[in-house]
Amino acid sequence: MYLIFRCDCGRAMYAKEGVETRKCVCGKSIKVKSRRIFKEASNFQEASDMVRELQEEKYGGSGFTTADKIPKKR
Ligand SMILES: [Zn+2]
Repeated sequence: MYLIFRCDCGRAMYAKEGVETRKCVCGKSIKVKSRRIFKEASNFQEASDMVRELQEEKYGGSGFTTADKIPKKR
């Protein structure tokens, strides 16, 4: 299981369940347990996809997600 959360700087990150701290690119060390978890992913690939989506949501310059980008499975 992977947990998806955000750093105080706004960057989306993921950590494998059980990992206590994760360092963000901004230099801040995040205590995973103290963060609000946005999403959970069952594997690395899913986790990195979710992080990318969250990043695009915040930083993407091209506006809103289009319908064809929304995952349809499950
Ligand atoms: Zn950060």
